[in-house]
Amino acid sequence: MQKKEEIMEKLSKGELKLHQIDNYTTKTQEAVDLRREFVEKVSGTSLKHLSHYSLDMDEAMKRNIENPIGTIQIPVGLAGPLHINGEHSQGNYYVPLATSEGALLASVNRGCSVTRATDGVTVRIIDDKMTRAPVIKANSAVEALEVKEWIDRHYIELKEAAESTTRHGKLLKVDPVVVVGRYVYPRFTFSTGDSMGMNMVTIATEKSLEILTRETGAHVVALSGNFDVDKKPSAVNLIEGRGKTVVAEIRIPSEIVEKKLKTTVQAIVEVNMAKNMIGSAIAGSMGFNAHYANIVGALFLATGQDAAHIVEGSLGITTAEEEKGDLYFSVTLPDLPLATVGGGTRLETAKECMEILGVYGGGKVREFAEIVAGTVLAGELSLMGALAAGHLARAHKDLGRG
Ligand code: NAP
Repeated sequence: MQKKEEIMEKLSKGELKLHQIDNYTTKTQEAVDLRREFVEKVSGTSLKHLSHYSLDMDEAMKRNIENPIGTIQIPVGLAGPLHINGEHSQGNYYVPLATSEGALLASVNRGCSVTRATDGVTVRIIDDKMTRAPVIKANSAVEALEVKEWIDRHYIELKEAAESTTRHGKLLKVDPVVVVGRYVYPRFTFSTGDSMGMNMVTIATEKSLEILTRETGAHVVALSGNFDVDKKPSAVNLIEGRGKTVVAEIRIPSEIVEKKLKTTVQAIVEVNMAKNMIGSAIAGSMGFNAHYANIVGALFLATGQDAAHIVEGSLGITTAEEEKGDLYFSVTLPDLPLATVGGGTRLETAKECMEILGVYGGGKVREFAEIVAGTVLAGELSLMGALAAGHLARAHKDLGRG
């Protein structure tokens, strides 16, 4: 390696770019350390905690990170066991959650205890798909409509082209196809096996578009035209679904509500109506729930999911009803992009957390989706119980303020 001082000097003068450090050494670790030392110098900060990690940075640099300087650490706690009756998940699961929000683990854990005191949480997957929606431009609105019709008539060719790029990706439909002025927004919808699928469907859609543009003369303005909708809250994902669409439900006898949640069935039903329904409606909110993002976020961080998809996972609707004096409670999550293969799941800590759940690798993503929805129900139920009992502020004061 060239002298460290020389490299630092070149970096300071802007003669060397951060990623070019990798060219000066064959050892990844040296490049990581140099970059970190450089930023320590520039910012006048000691980064000793960023520098301690056990993951294989060579592996991470192949697919997961550029210009690495270290890793961050987020505390991981364990909730559970969560008792589930799913189609793909049965029995008790200990759930790892990564968060810095005090009281979250304790709250989800309390919800899990309700699943064990009852017949458990029942979970079903309603739908499973991943979307990519490019924006295509025609010469006129009339020609844009012709492109839309062309897509309808040539689905088989589009499907063959898309599927030539992947073993696990299958094009399910191109629908809806929306026309605005002379722009066309076709929503390419795939099943993606056990991967979350964004890279997979992007590559596959690009292949289909080669035929479409050649045959219609229209051109692609952008491979994603924001009608996918990736990593943004949206009505179309709430209605049509994206990733895994999952529903979880539980019936809780009134005495368990009183014993475990320290409140009444009626109080939870009222909080749900006043807060999740009416409050969310006046806010123009996309999610009619109390805090799906908390549980989805902590599970995504623990298991190496794409953190930016937490915004999609926060969509969904909670229902709470009184049924013969007992509580019927459900969560519906229309938009959970999930993976047990690919992306960040290959990082060591993510793999370990998935192994706690027994869902790492191929053939596991549906079991994982059911666990995520079951855990969201546990967390949602516990918070709704706390709000109904009026002790949310106390829990945060005790657990979040030390
Ligand atoms: P990926 O790691 O790029 O692709 C999954 C890979 O796993 C494919 O090569 C697939 O092979 C293979 N595979 C092996 N066994 C599989 C199984 N059982 N099920 C499914 N695939 C299997 O991951 P991805 O899910 O497509 O993309 C995730 C990454 O995309 C994340 O890192 C995320 O941050 C990033 N991302 C990309 C975009 C974008 O626009 N490109 C947007 C958001 C996020 P085959 O393809 O041959 O089946």
